[in-house]
Amino acid sequence: MKKILLLLMTLAVTGGLTMANNINQPFNKGELNPYNEFFTGTTYLNMLVKKDDIWNSSIGNVTFEKGARTNWHKHSGGQILLVTAGEGRSMEEGKEVRILKSGDVVQIPPEVKHWHGAAPDSEFAHISIETNIPNNKTTWLEPVSDKEYK
Ligand code: MN
Repeated sequence: MKKILLLLMTLAVTGGLTMANNINQPFNKGELNPYNEFFTGTTYLNMLVKKDDIWNSSIGNVTFEKGARTNWHKHSGGQILLVTAGEGRSMEEGKEVRILKSGDVVQIPPEVKHWHGAAPDSEFAHISIETNIPNNKTTWLEPVSDKEYK
């Protein structure tokens, strides 16, 4: 009986800790991101609207673990990010890094080299909207170094 009680208490404590480390976001975080090879750290992707001929739109929820970020990359048709949870970072090449909080909108023009991701000490989530599709291609470039990130 004591052993069962101890097990239940352990589960409650570890469950609580897990909850505390997870940001509260409105959309399901989905599965491990199939594009993680183009990211540093671990991210998750939940495609909310898949590209098709009816809505001609592509919208995904991307969740980043602490310190995770995209490689440098470009979108030929641009991209809009809607920040939903946690604290993040974004940067266009040659510009200052931007600190992102829930409710922020990031407009990334076509062909501009940039990256986006979590703050070093916070999980982060944004909705990614591909604009000017269907001819919006993403070109993945080199990882964002720790020096560029910090
Ligand atoms: Mn992007």
